[in-house]
Amino acid sequence: MASPSHDYYQILGLSRTASADDIKKAFRRLARQYHPDLHSGTRKSEMEKKFKELNEAHEILSDPDKRKKYDQYGAQWEQAEAFERAGRHAGARGFRGGQSDTGFGTGGDFSDIFENLFGGRGRTGAPHGFATPGEDVEADVELSLREVLSGVTKRVSLMESVSCAACRGSGSLRGRTCHACAGSGTVRESKTIEVKIPAGVLDGTRIRVGGKGRPGINGGNRGDLYLHVKMRLGKVFRQQGSDLHATLPVWPWEAALGAEVMAPTVGEPVRVKIPAGSKADSKLRLKGKGLPTASGAHGDLFLTLQIVLPPFMSDEERTLYEQLGRQPHSDPRAEVIARAQQE
Ligand SMILES: [Zn+2]
Repeated sequence: MASPSHDYYQILGLSRTASADDIKKAFRRLARQYHPDLHSGTRKSEMEKKFKELNEAHEILSDPDKRKKYDQYGAQWEQAEAFERAGRHAGARGFRGGQSDTGFGTGGDFSDIFENLFGGRGRTGAPHGFATPGEDVEADVELSLREVLSGVTKRVSLMESVSCAACRGSGSLRGRTCHACAGSGTVRESKTIEVKIPAGVLDGTRIRVGGKGRPGINGGNRGDLYLHVKMRLGKVFRQQGSDLHATLPVWPWEAALGAEVMAPTVGEPVRVKIPAGSKADSKLRLKGKGLPTASGAHGDLFLTLQIVLPPFMSDEERTLYEQLGRQPHSDPRAEVIARAQQE
């Protein structure tokens, strides 16, 4: 029964002013954490104790009437109530102590407690035992640009506690402790699931995969799996929304005279036209060569021209540059020097 030494609010980690919703949330969270089925060995018995206390605390605090009495009389509220009732009348309706209709303290198993507390919400074919939904699972999934572009089926590995096959979850085999699960009845198992990720799912997207989270207890529905998409960018492309940016190196004469050159895209390289007289840092826009968007459109690919010099210069090239240098040109620095004087 209620252990007088325990503060129900403390057990739930709440203050005395907690709302009914706070109580419900705290209970659900802790019930999942403490549920004895999820623990093994010495932890299991420790959790059984905590779980019982938790249920006790919730049983009282979730019932406005009982909570009021608990607030008024403390842990001795049942005795106080009994006195009250007895004093009033032990009449036709009979005396209903707290014990017989609450489910705890009756030596029942945890399924019984759950049954009482949750009224079997969401039960799927478990005649006894309360169905509690499984926890959601969060996992990261990394996609390359190519995978974002075309969509991909990813294999995601998750660790999961499953009922031990050797002893069918009983923990013992022919009267001895089951070796496979060390008597816990459950084993950790890596489970691989395939998740189809459509094209256009960008970095930072959270994908919900229904029913692929942790299994429920007593026939409860499985939780959901949430995948956080992280895009793996290589060295070539920078991303800005659904647009991509890359640098396109060109020779000085290609920039001066114009040229048709091959340029990188996330898919196959494409031929692009460098206009004659292109300046350094000018951008070429390849429409639709960016990333797909959720609406089915595509971003663009921007190529920034980078005028590069050959790493080695032959004598002939040097001669040609010298000829170029002798041509009449205005000073390209004249404007910036003039401006600097005015700043
Ligand atoms: Zn086993």
